[in-house]
Amino acid sequence: MLRTLLLYLSNKPGLGRAMDRLPLSRRLVRRFVAGTTPDAAFAVIERLQGARLLSAVTYLGENVLTEAAARRAADVYLSLLDEIKRRDLQCVPSLKLTHLGLDRSHTLCRENLERILDRAQAGATLCWIDMESSAYTDRTLALYAAVRPRYPSAACVIQAYLRRSADDVRRLVGLGATIRLCKGAYREPPRLAFVSKREVDENYARLMDLLLAPDAIATGAYPAFATHDERLIARAARRARELGIPPEKFEIQMLYGIRHDLHAPIRDQGLRLRVLVPFGEEWYGYFVRRLAERPANLLFLLKNLVRP
Ligand SMILES: Cc1cc2nc3c(=O)[nH]c(=O)nc-3n(C[C@H](O)[C@H](O)[C@H](O)COP(=O)(O)OP(=O)(O)OC[C@H]3O[C@@H](n4cnc5c(N)ncnc54)[C@H](O)[C@@H]3O)c2cc1C
Repeated sequence: MLRTLLLYLSNKPGLGRAMDRLPLSRRLVRRFVAGTTPDAAFAVIERLQGARLLSAVTYLGENVLTEAAARRAADVYLSLLDEIKRRDLQCVPSLKLTHLGLDRSHTLCRENLERILDRAQAGATLCWIDMESSAYTDRTLALYAAVRPRYPSAACVIQAYLRRSADDVRRLVGLGATIRLCKGAYREPPRLAFVSKREVDENYARLMDLLLAPDAIATGAYPAFATHDERLIARAARRARELGIPPEKFEIQMLYGIRHDLHAPIRDQGLRLRVLVPFGEEWYGYFVRRLAERPANLLFLLKNLVRP
């Protein structure tokens, strides 16, 4: 119930503007968001690199409605790529197609995406295309498949809560794709998505097996297991070991501010770990999705709000 309510509220940006005025909620936002500027993100990314961790950077924003806003977002990603190169960071962008104008026009979005992929590919940098709500799944995967032949550095995302995902994984493995597997963070109807945590976790494990199957790895497909679920992370490491898949053939991914206690143990097992670092003024939708994942975060916020 609470999760559903929070995910509903994640589409109400007016609330974010109100929250921004409360110092306490701003502090909680900072737990998940590096700051509002690229410099704030790069400070975190350099710290991660110092700790021998890989990173991804997200300039927060989604569902932009004007062409100018979509082009501005793409320009920010171009300058992030330049800065990644200048600072010699093992960092890749992770972006949303609705931030690049998908709601406005397919052509505009593709143009913006290709500008970014050109620059990423020139720097031998991957570029992750995040997966948004199910309203965008087909369009996102279709655009990914269209750009992938020219841009092997493009990477995509599959959500384990969607019932369709096994078919999508099989198709993407056929392309030798780079695939992030996450559980899924949006509000979806039961006809499209598994509802219970048990079902989502079971499907995650099934999709993990498809991605780690020897014939999938042989196509050049590269899986990234994006989760803070210790059991699933341990399962990925165990399955890879059993199948003789070397650690450079897959990675674990986590979000900034969540379960950083797991970073060193994962790294010290010899696994590749990438931490996604978001920044920007448009933190609201991202932040509320993080609250929805763990209602204890919301309780913490409420408790501190009513504390005298
Ligand atoms: C690198 C990365 C990229 C992602 N990209 C996408 C994407 O493109 N599209 C998409 O829909 N989703 C994306 N997600 C979000 C994902 O779908 C899940 O919503 C999110 O990762 C929480 O699920 P979990 O796998 O950690 O498992 P859960 O079962 O939700 O959590 C496992 C444990 O992790 C900790 N934890 C999880 N979330 C939180 C939190 N918010 N606050 C505090 N502790 C927490 C808790 O200890 C919890 O017990 C991404 C996640 C990661 C890590």
